[in-house]
Amino acid sequence: MISPILKPGSTIGILGGGQLGRMTALAAARLGYNCLIYDPASNSPAAQVARHIQADFHDQQALETFANEVDVVTIEFENLPVNALEFLQRYKPVRPGPKILAIAQNRIAEKTFFNQIGIKTAAWRPVNSLATLQQAIVEIGTTALLKTATMGYDGKGQFHIKSPEAAESAFAFLQGKEAILEAFVPFSMEIAVTAARTHDGRVAIYPPVQNHHKNNILDRTIVPAPGGPALHKKAMLLAENAVSALALEGILTLEMFVLKNGDLRVNEMAPRPHNSAHWTQDGCMCSQFEQLVRVLANLPLGLTTRTHDVIMQNLLGDAVHQWQEILQEPNAILHLYGKDSIKQGRKMGHVNRLLRQVKA
Ligand code: AMP
Repeated sequence: MISPILKPGSTIGILGGGQLGRMTALAAARLGYNCLIYDPASNSPAAQVARHIQADFHDQQALETFANEVDVVTIEFENLPVNALEFLQRYKPVRPGPKILAIAQNRIAEKTFFNQIGIKTAAWRPVNSLATLQQAIVEIGTTALLKTATMGYDGKGQFHIKSPEAAESAFAFLQGKEAILEAFVPFSMEIAVTAARTHDGRVAIYPPVQNHHKNNILDRTIVPAPGGPALHKKAMLLAENAVSALALEGILTLEMFVLKNGDLRVNEMAPRPHNSAHWTQDGCMCSQFEQLVRVLANLPLGLTTRTHDVIMQNLLGDAVHQWQEILQEPNAILHLYGKDSIKQGRKMGHVNRLLRQVKA
């Protein structure tokens, strides 16, 4: 089926009202599109810049109203009920679709998918009982992390097993939840690649970036990632393979570990705009948010070549108070999310510091 082009003036529906929805809505507005946000909260970052339906993700009546008002649906976070996407798909195109969301929501499904298409991950085993955990420890060892299969992000639901004796307390930590035991990867750096793919199979890939985490939360992104063209090519190929195998309609970031010998191990994927691609707002011809809008509306994809080297710094918690000083820096571009309260580790905004301009 040839997907129609959505003309400016059409409406993009976004499930989720966080900063990623806000920045997608701002990029959509610049191209003349309307956005309708669907989120249970009252004053979410996205609802401050676009129209909003405030309802639960299980509310079928509200979902139907939403579907009738929009031309296409996308998501801005992953912990959504898959059946809400299945329901919406009966009315309008949903990009990415529910099957991809279901894979991204579950580490077992996600790692199985990667391994099936030949993408290497850390060694891992599914864990659903004390016996399977003990067997996994025998096979993988204790230099390993126990991660809940679902609802894990920013290091939440992770547990470091230090000895076989710790298996019982680690299993108790799971509180009956399905999990994986994953070998600890002694990486030399963490990188990420963001790729967009359209309904008709066109792909655009951004250059790899280096991510620095603090307390498991992204702190800084360095653009470009060190490592040179061979590493970059290899990493970009993995992202291309992943979005093609998924037949993704949308945008996806693949996070990976680089080993000392340059080999790559993929950690996870997020089929939505991603924090590690925020640099594209100011260091690239086409931002990840505009790229997503282009995918949703079936427009030509934008250029992914970088115009500047960039350091993206997240403003977590109280760091947001630095906003005035940041505004005085000549090469800094500030983005604030309009969140109503500051919490430790909460993503309040980010700053893109433009370094060297890249000659065309
Ligand atoms: P995740 O919850 O899988 O997104 O992991 C959050 C962060 O924990 C990653 O960005 C890494 O810094 C670290 N991490 C996760 N899995 C591993 C692993 N297998 N080996 C080493 N570090 C890891």
